[in-house]
Amino acid sequence: MRITSDLIERDQRYIWHPYSSMNSGYAIFPVKSANGVRITLSDGRELIDGMSSWWSAIHGYNHPVLNQAINNQLQDMSHIMFGGLTHQPAIDLAEQLVQITPDALTTVFFVDSGSVAVEVAMKMAIQYWYANKQPEKQKMLTIRHGYHGDTFGAMSVSDPVNGMHSLFANSLNQQFFADAPECKFDQACNESDIQPLRTQLQTHHSQIAAVILEPIVQGAGGMRFYSPEYLKQVRYLCDEYDVLLILDEIATGFGRTGKLFASEHADVEADILCLGKALTGGYMTLAATLCTPYIAETISSGDPGLFMHGPTFMANPLACSTALASLELLFNSPWQQAVNTIETGLKKGLMPCADLTVVKEVRVLGAIGVVELHKAVDMAVIQPRFVEAGVWVRPFNNLIYLMPPFIIDEHDLNTLTQAVVDIISNLEDA
Ligand code: PMP
Repeated sequence: MRITSDLIERDQRYIWHPYSSMNSGYAIFPVKSANGVRITLSDGRELIDGMSSWWSAIHGYNHPVLNQAINNQLQDMSHIMFGGLTHQPAIDLAEQLVQITPDALTTVFFVDSGSVAVEVAMKMAIQYWYANKQPEKQKMLTIRHGYHGDTFGAMSVSDPVNGMHSLFANSLNQQFFADAPECKFDQACNESDIQPLRTQLQTHHSQIAAVILEPIVQGAGGMRFYSPEYLKQVRYLCDEYDVLLILDEIATGFGRTGKLFASEHADVEADILCLGKALTGGYMTLAATLCTPYIAETISSGDPGLFMHGPTFMANPLACSTALASLELLFNSPWQQAVNTIETGLKKGLMPCADLTVVKEVRVLGAIGVVELHKAVDMAVIQPRFVEAGVWVRPFNNLIYLMPPFIIDEHDLNTLTQAVVDIISNLEDA
């Protein structure tokens, strides 16, 4: 216990956590270890993980195969610069990513985080048009309620309200926004859903380099699931108005929505694709931006003839080796069945929430279960309650959501959903 309070005290003295205040005094929980779907706190308590460390730890924690991959790679090298040098883990991984993504995507640019993968995608689109002698096409078009990361470029295409664009008004690039579609995942897409995006394209296409979207599931901008038909329409419109389509599958990629990539629900192919998070099974920070050979060729043969990006830790060999092992684990497992079983468990387990007056909507897709409340939760109250219930669930704003590792069993999943139901029911009483 003393160790725990000492860790908390030193943490709160020195460390910023994501989207946090240095003087909020919110609860923080030191973790000693994590194994499978269990997180062990330094005070000995065990929590069932409902978050997969923000979409990433699909195989659970401390997996022997992933551990071994890192150990093996460590014997050769942990890192080497990627300018002028290359290595087999990066080559094998690039080849594999090209194989598992749509045929049109054949070129891979490795980066070290999802936000940077988005920056790279936007730069690729701009450089493509520049090389194509259309340098005026520098803007992005996106839909509201999106989230693409916290760096400036990524933030500029994330939801203006959630992303607090007003705070950064004089330093943030101004992009074009269309209202997000209202059509839900299992609904038809109406003219009123697509019209806002079409209007933006009609008016501004000569300035627009690309449309950027999260396919099917909008994550941290609101956990909204929209109709595959909408995505199909977006693809048609991009072709009609001669703008590129960037799909951000950083959260949705690698099986989370029930398909390997969410864009498969709509059978839509991107010109530029961003991957990250579960790419390494949540072990290491690694992301990738893929593009078509035509984009790669145009950038490479136009002015200035180089793609202008190159991070220090690009294609880190430890991360690439872990990603290869993670993909092998995924493809050698019945992941589709696992995700379907989780989907069924989430639907059944979260269903009782739908009757609670504080709840606006319950929605489930693949291994993602969302309970949207009418009002934002009080994190200072709700977070410790989840921990007391023996689960790790991290709500934001008015959203309580679950996205457990694919290896979770029925019993643990039931504990997770029951905790959500119980805790939301208690909010009702409060
Ligand atoms: N795009 C999407 C769809 C995301 O969900 C996230 C992270 N939540 C990012 C980009 C940014 O990734 P990172 O946090 O690794 O920079």
